[in-house]
Amino acid sequence: MTTGGNPVQDSVYTRDRGVATANPQGDRGVGKPIEAAKALIPTIDLADLLCGPGQMRRVGDRWIALCPLPDHNEKTPSFTVYPGEQGWYCYGCQRGGDVVDLARIAWGFPDDGRGAAEAAAYLLMEFGHPVPERPAPWHARQSRQRPVRDRIDAERVEHVRLLVFRLIWMPWLRGLPGRVREEAADSAWAESRHTALRLYEQRRGA
Ligand SMILES: [Zn+2]
Repeated sequence: MTTGGNPVQDSVYTRDRGVATANPQGDRGVGKPIEAAKALIPTIDLADLLCGPGQMRRVGDRWIALCPLPDHNEKTPSFTVYPGEQGWYCYGCQRGGDVVDLARIAWGFPDDGRGAAEAAAYLLMEFGHPVPERPAPWHARQSRQRPVRDRIDAERVEHVRLLVFRLIWMPWLRGLPGRVREEAADSAWAESRHTALRLYEQRRGA
């Protein structure tokens, strides 16, 4: 939808929208929650939620209501939503923006990149959408997988160790007299772990 029929309103809206989103940090922490919230949640739906059921009144192609922002009490409605542009502007407190800006200001999240991302995540939850995770950096994935990988490695090493002990050390231990055998078995068992580790590393490296 276009508001092309009203150039004055267009310019006011465009200008003020520009001011409202001029915060250079506003889009820095963007990440996926902000994009998802903008794509999934119509500004009018959030405005409806904030203003209360049935409080928004349709005027031409926009909707107006008393400003729902916590620090603006007014008696004449100046809070305006433009569904076609997914934008809003309050002519009373002179603030405006998109659905995430509205959520951030209405719910008191700070005016920085993180605040916007948090507001977006909160918004997604409020409307029953899953909050997308940021893509995990490679090292984070690595460290998350490490305990599992370490456990698998340890199990494999123990398996190789048992084979080494049975195949190499047991025949030798059997030839020893009983008294020394126990002690020799201890060190053979320890030694077989070194052998197993070496074999396992060689095989994994291959
Ligand atoms: Zn206002």
